[in-house]
Amino acid sequence: MSLMLSGIGVSRGIAIGKAHFMRNSIEVPECAIPAHMLESEISRFLSAVELARSQLESIRERIPAETSIDITAFIDTHLLMLDDATLVSTPVELIREHGCNAEWALKLQRDAVINVFEKMDDPYLRTRSDDVDHVINRILRILLDRDQDDHDGSDGQLMNTIVLADDLTPAETVLLKHQGMVAFATEFGGPLSHTAILSRSMQIPAVVGAHGVHQYVRDGETLILDGLHGIVIADPDAQTIAHYRERQQHERVRQQELARLASFPAITLDDVHIKLMANIELPEDIDAVGMARADGVGLYRTEFLFMNRATPPGEQEQFDCYLAVLNALKGKPLTIRTLDMGADKQLDSGKGRCGSNPALGLRAVRLCLKDLSLFRPQLRAILRTSAHGPVRMMIPMLTNTQELYQVLALINETRNALQRESLAFGPDLSIGGMIEVPGAALSAREFARHLDFLSIGTNDLIQYTLAIDRVDDEVNYLYDPLHPAVLRLVKMTIDAGREAGIPVAMCGEMAGDPRYTRLLLGMGLTEFSMHHTSLQEVKSVINNSHIATLKPLVDELIDHTTAGQIHVRIDSLNSNLTE
Ligand code: PEP
Ligand code: MG
Repeated sequence: MSLMLSGIGVSRGIAIGKAHFMRNSIEVPECAIPAHMLESEISRFLSAVELARSQLESIRERIPAETSIDITAFIDTHLLMLDDATLVSTPVELIREHGCNAEWALKLQRDAVINVFEKMDDPYLRTRSDDVDHVINRILRILLDRDQDDHDGSDGQLMNTIVLADDLTPAETVLLKHQGMVAFATEFGGPLSHTAILSRSMQIPAVVGAHGVHQYVRDGETLILDGLHGIVIADPDAQTIAHYRERQQHERVRQQELARLASFPAITLDDVHIKLMANIELPEDIDAVGMARADGVGLYRTEFLFMNRATPPGEQEQFDCYLAVLNALKGKPLTIRTLDMGADKQLDSGKGRCGSNPALGLRAVRLCLKDLSLFRPQLRAILRTSAHGPVRMMIPMLTNTQELYQVLALINETRNALQRESLAFGPDLSIGGMIEVPGAALSAREFARHLDFLSIGTNDLIQYTLAIDRVDDEVNYLYDPLHPAVLRLVKMTIDAGREAGIPVAMCGEMAGDPRYTRLLLGMGLTEFSMHHTSLQEVKSVINNSHIATLKPLVDELIDHTTAGQIHVRIDSLNSNLTE
């Protein structure tokens, strides 16, 4: 009988294939090793470490050249761990000390290291403890000759399989894709995990937080995975398979049609030009943005430049990087967001580690204002880049105008310093603020008085308005862009910008979801920024919408619709206005 499980869709697309379980937990046997055999046990352990290293190196070599460097960096991190005394020398000492087998020594060391991480109660360190676990499990599988159970590395071995696991490492994800995996679902994990980021970059449909896959799905049975809606259907009947095959085909045709839209501008039926910008994480993303003919970059998340390294990039490295992106945009605007570290995105140097509620703690502009050694080089790099083209600077997570005054004063100081040093900067750098804290949305008028533009970060605005941690899959069901409170805050921000005569953009995920495009047009939004893969789809809705007709309908909807009715009203807004 067929069964449907739901989780969080982190990478869109439909896949139909056979279930293949990855075993994440490994039973470790304990045995005593006679004294005269201890040295050969140690050699067995060291050979397993070397084999783990060559497996990782071979995965790294097989990553396609065009893959972004953050993906290879994940694998480099695991390779570096194989050089770490904690994971290699200490187990050797434990084998000698306890006279035990290599597997048991490694398990003892893993328990000790994980114990230390867990005591720290820090989400970033928890991610790092997963990395330790993944590396140790790789060595354990080799020692226990369990490598063949899961995957032996041969390409095509998992052709047309949908992999199910507790969790997957980025390295495993790359390897599994080479072996023919068409999609994956994991019991745990959030949409911002390294693996989720990777699945989107590699366009592998994926669902995380799919609780119960181990319990209810059998190895080898047919599965359908819908990465957009976060659904896994086990043992579907012929009719369901036919339905999803049709959707797959439909999706292929639609993608081809949408690609043709790239050369057309986004203009509504009543002739309003809408700006469609792209969000990027890494400089490499810029080529795809060019192909999609975005009107520029509306959000450059610079924190990715600061990740997977021991020390933050200096001013010159940042300048070189920003300038390369600006040049690639060939005259189109580049919106550089200042560092948004903290909460689930921590620096390897440990700066910004915070207490019991990281999402409410020292994050983004709060961290930058606290640690000027981090902020100043970035301000200098952005200002210097602005001498070479249309750069906009955007400040994340503003809470009150006091913070904004501090930032503006620092920018002025930086300008003066650059002038003294005869270093060029653009005289008219636009400075914008992200509205992603409910308090800032309620005070949007005051922010608008001091800024050149606003950009609504709905990912955080929703998290903070509805009090749900965006990386916790247990409360993800409450994440609702259509909650009336969220809509009112969005509308308030758009209105504040219009009254002050400054542009308002939206760069959270809501902007790239075509289900909300008409609603946002009706609210008066004229600048959308999103992942480049959503651009043409949103454009097709824009080119088929009439703002003057939408406006009164949306006004009425925001003022009078309850949370329960709103989804139905949005469906009718989307279906009735195709003329
Ligand atoms: C947002 O919060 O909507 C946003 C765009 O910023 P980030 O997702 O990087 O926090
Ligand atoms: Mg944000």
